[in-house]
Amino acid sequence: MSAKIIDGKHIAQQMREALRRKIQAFSTPPGLAVIIVGENPASKVYVRNKEKASIEAGIRSEVIALPDQVSQEEVLERIHALNRDPAIHGILVQLPLPAHFDARRVLDSISPEKDVDGFHPCNVGALFLGNPGLQPCTPHGVMKMLEYENVPIRGRHAVIVGASNIVGKPMAVMLLAKGATVTICNSKTPDLGRHTRDADILVVAVGRPNLVMGDMVKAGAVVIDVGMNRLEDGRLAGDVDFESAKLKASLITPVPGGVGPMTIAMLLENTVEAAERVRRKGSKETV
Ligand code: NAP
Repeated sequence: MSAKIIDGKHIAQQMREALRRKIQAFSTPPGLAVIIVGENPASKVYVRNKEKASIEAGIRSEVIALPDQVSQEEVLERIHALNRDPAIHGILVQLPLPAHFDARRVLDSISPEKDVDGFHPCNVGALFLGNPGLQPCTPHGVMKMLEYENVPIRGRHAVIVGASNIVGKPMAVMLLAKGATVTICNSKTPDLGRHTRDADILVVAVGRPNLVMGDMVKAGAVVIDVGMNRLEDGRLAGDVDFESAKLKASLITPVPGGVGPMTIAMLLENTVEAAERVRRKGSKETV
């Protein structure tokens, strides 16, 4: 058996097209501000891709590029100004920040209503309590993919490898909310394969190429590879050995072209969602 490949690029493109049509109905376009500090080449590529996708969708995009030496106070002041700016509905700070920054403090200074990355404690707490606000883009994108592919979740065993705040943990909460039985593995988990082999839905978000091989996948499982690793020869690879895993899985995401494009689509969706919330609030206040 060879798995059906989940085409994240295609699903994301459809979502972006739907968003573009939705945005055309706005009297003023939603605004997204992206702050990038320093010269990290990978971060610059990510920010450029986000800007391009925003513009294509009809979102007003503002990139604020600051030098490495900028002080944390200045970045916080910029964020406070964006929090007050009615033309800006979403604010994103590209990570990683230089070492002299307290990243948590910077992220926490973004207004929860404009926190399109979904990292603010208010949004994290709302997700845990089952009344989500803006949700973290990558796990939210995975949920959309599962929905698009009609993958049943209720009563299934979902195993998540990786327990970061931005992917693994929120992923677990989202799957739990849909009725899955959830196992989360981390770097201390002994005999990882014992857990992954029991997964109906396996999500891997670690950052280590070939961590999960085909013999660690249950026959018929749905395999979602969040990992993005740059190999020595310049190629991009996930955390799952695609060739061996696809012989066991029923559905599998490739890298590139799987989860990555969904993350950007969800950022655009969150920006539109944030703008719609402002609009809904405004119309309630004028009633
Ligand atoms: P992270 O913050 O470094 O977290 C990695 C997690 O993996 C940690 O929970 C760690 O465990 C766990 N881990 C490390 N080695 C392990 C092992 N041998 N077995 C099981 N678990 C292990 O990483 P992240 O930010 O979540 O990103 C993970 C990967 O996803 C990276 O490749 C990143 O580039 C990619 N990513 C992709 C997208 C996308 O849009 N496609 C978005 C975000 C991230 P401990 O908790 O014990 O340290």
